[in-house]
Amino acid sequence: MSTLYSAATVIGIAIPRKDLMKTIKKRGCGHEARLAKHCSECGKPMWVEEETPSPEYEGFITVDEKFCGLDAIAEGYDPEDLILYVGIIYEVEQGSVVFNQAPNIEEIKAKIEKALAPKGLWNIDRFGIYTVCCIS
Ligand SMILES: [Zn+2]
Repeated sequence: MSTLYSAATVIGIAIPRKDLMKTIKKRGCGHEARLAKHCSECGKPMWVEEETPSPEYEGFITVDEKFCGLDAIAEGYDPEDLILYVGIIYEVEQGSVVFNQAPNIEEIKAKIEKALAPKGLWNIDRFGIYTVCCIS
């Protein structure tokens, strides 16, 4: 199998991985919780922090390639550096993107804001037009 590279143009926002994860606190062992840093019975930490995908991101990973109902594409070799581009994707293999009509940026912006703002993921400073390298 060969590696295929293509480029996609995304009108939307870039969301770094850290914003797609949440930290949860869970018990470090199965013994009774007490007000101590470590368990007096087994010595393990009473509480440990664990990074887990937010519900939206987990759905994206396991269900399909839509993120909150929008097109989405992930970029990054190292999962820690992953950036998720969310919005409207125009994908091309060669040449340039051909639009039948000019995209309505304000309309696209409003659509993305409506989908992401309730999740706390909307950030106007991250809105733009991105070129993303896709590897398949
Ligand atoms: Zn214990």
